[in-house]
Amino acid sequence: MQEEKAYLPNTKLKGTTAVTGLVMGVARVYSRGNININSDPVDESRLPEEKKKFEQARKTVGVTMVRLSDFAHSRNDSDTRDILNAQHDILNDPELEAMVNRMIDERNLRAEKAIYDSFQHYIDLIKSNDKSFIVSRLSDLRDVRDRLIQNVQQLGMIASFGKDAVMVAEDVSPIEVITFARNGVKGIVCSSGGLTSHASIIANAMGIPMIIDAKSAMRMIQDGDTVILDGYGHSVIARPDEEAASSYTRAIKRHKEEEKQLRHVTEKPSETACGTKILLQANIDFEDEVLNIEKYRAEGIGLLRTDTLLMNSGPLTMDRKRQEEFCQTAFSASGSSPVTVRLLDVGGDKLLNLKDREANPFLGWRGVRILLDRRELLRNQLEAICRVAGRYPGRSRILVPMISNLEEFLEVKRELADMQDNLQKRGVPVDSNVKLGIMVEVPSVALQIRVFAEHVDFLSIGTNDLTQYTLAVDRGNSLIASLYQPLHPAVLTFIAMTVQAGTEFNIPVAVCGELASEPFAALVLVGIGVRELSMTPRLIPKVKQAIRLYEIADMKKLSDALLGCTTSEELKKIRNEWKAGYEEKLREQRTA
Ligand code: PEP
Ligand code: MG
Repeated sequence: MQEEKAYLPNTKLKGTTAVTGLVMGVARVYSRGNININSDPVDESRLPEEKKKFEQARKTVGVTMVRLSDFAHSRNDSDTRDILNAQHDILNDPELEAMVNRMIDERNLRAEKAIYDSFQHYIDLIKSNDKSFIVSRLSDLRDVRDRLIQNVQQLGMIASFGKDAVMVAEDVSPIEVITFARNGVKGIVCSSGGLTSHASIIANAMGIPMIIDAKSAMRMIQDGDTVILDGYGHSVIARPDEEAASSYTRAIKRHKEEEKQLRHVTEKPSETACGTKILLQANIDFEDEVLNIEKYRAEGIGLLRTDTLLMNSGPLTMDRKRQEEFCQTAFSASGSSPVTVRLLDVGGDKLLNLKDREANPFLGWRGVRILLDRRELLRNQLEAICRVAGRYPGRSRILVPMISNLEEFLEVKRELADMQDNLQKRGVPVDSNVKLGIMVEVPSVALQIRVFAEHVDFLSIGTNDLTQYTLAVDRGNSLIASLYQPLHPAVLTFIAMTVQAGTEFNIPVAVCGELASEPFAALVLVGIGVRELSMTPRLIPKVKQAIRLYEIADMKKLSDALLGCTTSEELKKIRNEWKAGYEEKLREQRTA
């Protein structure tokens, strides 16, 4: 097989699997970079479609601007806010809107060309009339024009990809993953990206196989190439020959067999070989996923990410009714099990565009920091959750993200008590037993975990962030991906400290980061003493299969060994030895 040669058949590219799976499809090279205007006129019948694209782009760009302006306002950044407001006015200028539509109609233009020409008309006008105004006004106009054109082009591009598309991109954002998923994309290949970036997490939630860090993907894969995305082999094959295609077909058959075996495990209790119960819960990001709770026998929801609601809505406000609907769906899909609703955790890499405004978004305005600065957002969300919790007494947990000091938690606790009080006074039924807990994802919290344990009802360890903040390794940066080691003894030590505090203060401790969904890591976590794991429901059977094959004592040996590692080579050796033994156990089980 060829190794990374341009446009030869059967070109194999190595990457890292972010979401497992095996698919064959047509490569669609996706880039949000340069703007090339297509000036070719279109057929008369396509004019309404072009006008619709313009309208849709105007709405999307408008929402982004309001969001950014809102953000600038909250930071007292009046300069940025003024610029954005001026741009928003340009976007909503009825004359400009009419001109674009007229150009589409009269000259049979594509939306992108009509936008370009209309803006050019204004730019020329300003240039000839008012010299003093030129620089700022022109750059505002150009900025709005380019945002509109990019949007129109992206819309057209994604809609035309077809159902067999495997997206090939430099990097993708969470919102782009959602857009791909809604357009039936089969897989995603990125030349950069991080395993626990939110784009990867969402692809996982949506079940779209994804390879990241396939460095030469954009250079070696052409639009229209047939590609095989092999999430099991951490690779992509571009332009497969007959032999590669038939080995793909054989592999698909094999994986279907394995899946069948996993279906048996689904019905079995979630306990270790020595009979210790391990609670396996679901991480839920979208409403469409809730069916998987029952399908994979998750025992409730360990992490309901509400951030995704904001990705679909407009500015930094969330409709309370919409939030109530989302929570209601989650509760009714979870039988009688508990549901952990996490308060909004935007910021970091989770709100497209905001990251451009902060030098260090992951160390910036994120999670509870935003909620405490924007109380109406927090109160609105607490109200939605409390209203639903009142309908399902005894099942609700509220989880506060990105806590780094105790005051933040106590402030949220006060807000929750006020809200419950307020609702009760208005005659709305509430559950006075709602549990309030925190994400353990910042080292300051792990180091002082006993201080927090005294005040919280439960702890949930977010290993995705705990790893990035402990090791100072950006979870989404492929340049340092090899340094991102969630099983690093420093991270495991923090987990062990958290478990110990949980035991001492008699409060539950869960792990809801991606680490919980990997069989080897899950065993290590149980070895440390974790008894609640939450993950994408699809991955529950694989974790259950591993847990059922080992006794607590075996898992403890594994976790002790890992805690004692001093190099990543030692860790790798232990993992490889375990893997060989595990595969042997599985084989024995199959033949028994
Ligand atoms: C985590 O940090 O591990 C976590 C579960 O939260 P998120 O991935 O949404 O940041
Ligand atoms: Mg987190």
